[in-house]
Amino acid sequence: MMESKRKLNPLVENSNTCLNLQVLTNSKDKTRRERILRNHMASHMIAAWEGRWKGAEIAHDPCMYCCSSMRMTGCTVEIVGSKVKPECKFQHVSEFPQKSLKSSKNFPTTNQPMRCERCSSAGPKPKEVFIPKYNMLSHYKEVHGIDYDEEHCDYLHKYVIGEDEKKKVTDKFEVGESE
Ligand SMILES: [Zn+2]
Ligand SMILES: [Zn+2]
Ligand SMILES: [Zn+2]
Repeated sequence: MMESKRKLNPLVENSNTCLNLQVLTNSKDKTRRERILRNHMASHMIAAWEGRWKGAEIAHDPCMYCCSSMRMTGCTVEIVGSKVKPECKFQHVSEFPQKSLKSSKNFPTTNQPMRCERCSSAGPKPKEVFIPKYNMLSHYKEVHGIDYDEEHCDYLHKYVIGEDEKKKVTDKFEVGESE
């Protein structure tokens, strides 16, 4: 597969300019590439939460690999068995072992697909639904009508991103406003 030569026509529909592939990574190492993309986008999300990002607005349901609204673009990411299966419409990311999601000193983000208990148990024929961790609180707010900021439900604590992580991610993966 000619990953790097892939024509990305849908790019024109996405205002996130850092989707310019060469800006992010030329790494041929799949694991490294996945981590760079995921951490870079995490940094954009954090910058947006903190009001430091002056570029295009970031959706409340950003894709882990391209930052565009998952609902709009149809990007998905799920875990099947012990494999993570990303389906990003803008970045080619091959499936990889779940254990590679682990955060590390150089790749500090904990953003990763998490199973939404509510969505995955709804309806007569429940289907596993995975939401990126960084999107979970807004998912609960938008989809399940539960606002963590107001209700502070204990079971949502695990989706809160700590200040320490925010600092580490944004220090390692600086995002400029001109990207
Ligand atoms: Zn960027
Ligand atoms: Zn995507
Ligand atoms: Zn849900």
